[in-house]
Amino acid sequence: MATSTLTTCPYCGVGCGVAATPSNVTGDESHPANQGRLCVKGSALHETLVPNGRLLRPRVAGEDKSWPEALAAVSGAIRDSVAQHGPGSVALYLSGQLLTEDYYVANKLAKGFIGTPHVDTNSRLCMSAAVAAHKRTFGEDCVPGCYEDLELADLLVLTGSNAAWAHPILYQRMHAARRAGRRVVVIDPRRTATADLADLHLKLKPGTDTVLFNGLLAWLVQHNAISPSYIAQHCSGFEETLACAQDVAPSVVSVAAQCDLAEADVERFYCWYADTPRTVTAFSQGINQAVAGTDNCNAIINCHLATGRIGQPGASPFSLTGQPNAMGGREVGGLANTLAAHMEYDTPGAREQLAEFWGTDQLPEAPGYKAVELFEAVHRGDIKVLWIMGTNPAVSLPDSARVREALASCPTVIVSDCMANTDTTALANILLPAAGWGEKDGTVTNSERCISRQRSFLPLSSAARPDWQILASVACELGYARAFQYECPADIFREHAALSALACRVSEGRQIFDIGALAQLTETQYNQLEPTQWPVTLDDVGVLEGASRLFSDGCFATDDGRARLVPIPAGRPRQSVTPRYPFVVNTGRIRDQWHTMTRTALVSRLLTHRQEPSIEIHPDDAFRLNVSDGTLCQLTGPGPKPFLGRARLTLDQRLGEVFIPIHWSGRFASQSVATNLIAAVTDPLSGQPESKHGIASLHSL
Ligand code: SF4
Repeated sequence: MATSTLTTCPYCGVGCGVAATPSNVTGDESHPANQGRLCVKGSALHETLVPNGRLLRPRVAGEDKSWPEALAAVSGAIRDSVAQHGPGSVALYLSGQLLTEDYYVANKLAKGFIGTPHVDTNSRLCMSAAVAAHKRTFGEDCVPGCYEDLELADLLVLTGSNAAWAHPILYQRMHAARRAGRRVVVIDPRRTATADLADLHLKLKPGTDTVLFNGLLAWLVQHNAISPSYIAQHCSGFEETLACAQDVAPSVVSVAAQCDLAEADVERFYCWYADTPRTVTAFSQGINQAVAGTDNCNAIINCHLATGRIGQPGASPFSLTGQPNAMGGREVGGLANTLAAHMEYDTPGAREQLAEFWGTDQLPEAPGYKAVELFEAVHRGDIKVLWIMGTNPAVSLPDSARVREALASCPTVIVSDCMANTDTTALANILLPAAGWGEKDGTVTNSERCISRQRSFLPLSSAARPDWQILASVACELGYARAFQYECPADIFREHAALSALACRVSEGRQIFDIGALAQLTETQYNQLEPTQWPVTLDDVGVLEGASRLFSDGCFATDDGRARLVPIPAGRPRQSVTPRYPFVVNTGRIRDQWHTMTRTALVSRLLTHRQEPSIEIHPDDAFRLNVSDGTLCQLTGPGPKPFLGRARLTLDQRLGEVFIPIHWSGRFASQSVATNLIAAVTDPLSGQPESKHGIASLHSL
């Protein structure tokens, strides 16, 4: 029997540890995230280790090529584009599926040596609003709490999160923590599987989250349920924030009317919040994927600051990250508006110090395009070379028909992927076979800042290579070999860790993200690295120590050390229903699929839960339109393409709203791409698309 390798699941941001062999996967009992548990997707991982659909050789213009030929084509396209149009004509679009080491090398090559600021990631679509909110209030992108807090909380508020399906193991932990006196409030326009856990489900009108949480702040003040001493010692901006909250949501009556909720339910939520010092508010895509996404997050955090519930056992706001390594990408600077290692473009001294550290004079001076802007720049013809790694933007970005137009018109589209036939690879000029899960080796960081090793236990398939190696090879072709002399992922990790320490010095000690203590790991120590939450320090006897919680002492990463409460206006969705498009379209995950199904669709048992695209609709709406359960229906929005699916009649939906899954791509069901109904409108602060609020009409076929 093969010995199992301890590694991590490549799907969601819970970041479960698994013990894997080529023919079996079980939960890693020693991993703090899951303690041996696995969800159905994780437990089917070994069934995805099949050659079906793998990209096994480099291809250029549709023909199989050798690696030297492919690398010459990639570097030639980049070199020519920079020479003719400048470095800003080259862009990289990365993925929360990449390992931190891959991400680090991509960011370094693009910003440090090609000199383009246009490096963004599909993580923009899932958590950039939380990032922007953390920076606004804490001074840095930091999640203050840990998973244990979800169990310790006496009041758990889950808002915009169907954790039962999207973060199943965390949901299991929350479920197991049920005990006398513990309460759960679920805030979601739909009654999802997560609402089964709820003592109170607030089925609010979509887009009214800022009203609900502004109302909570105003109510807490009115009922003397805030912490004046915490505010006085550790916060700024309270008076302006309160004035704004009182203006937006002056009373429970007003909140109930604006959010379309019963007054008694609003009052009950507010009373429970006031009475429960150990409160965690966990939020996810229902909060983030909105034009007011950053404001939504800050409205939640404001209430925690006003009550002093930050970084305490069982008391914190908590952003549930979508992807397995969205946070690792944030650490290296894989967002277009950050530089590297949590340093911003406007961090004093950051560019100079980073240039010296990397040994370059090519660093861009200003942030680049965020995801939606980036593909619009491709459409305009401003980007001549686009390198996409480990993601499928032809399906996942809003207004995907326009994204496909952009890709089709771009002179050079390079795609690194382990799968050969995605909607995006179909539009590429150059395909580079990347190592897949089980072959890759490096680290990931989950939603609670926990860095874990993702270890390889399979040989590389055919000509596939790790992403970091492909990137370093291109860097060498471009003449930057001296800065990309990596023998193994440990070399990259040590450099990444050392850069975090430099960033802390640049910030004069204010920066929280610090893994400098890991910069001297030997390869053996790296290979044996236990899951560790950053920031990481060495204790007196040289033992590594992680940090479960941040800001417990009330000191934040801002210039004055105080957390900033942020006045939040009433946010409203950009698109409103009209007589022509009378339905609000909500999008999201289903239980057993992941992203655009390139891996999970390989497992037949994962298709049994939901076999085809569906449109969930309230029975009264269906009756009015003469639609029965199972009727094939079409949703038509303002965009050029509709969405086809079978009606699922359910009282879980509010009247006038439908829900569709995000997973089906053009490859599986060309008329059922959810992003055809999502306009390319974004939160002005974070650039996160409004993926929870399309508009459409519905008719049966
Ligand atoms: Fe994988 Fe997420 Fe399931 Fe854990 S909860 S096994 S990380 S998909």
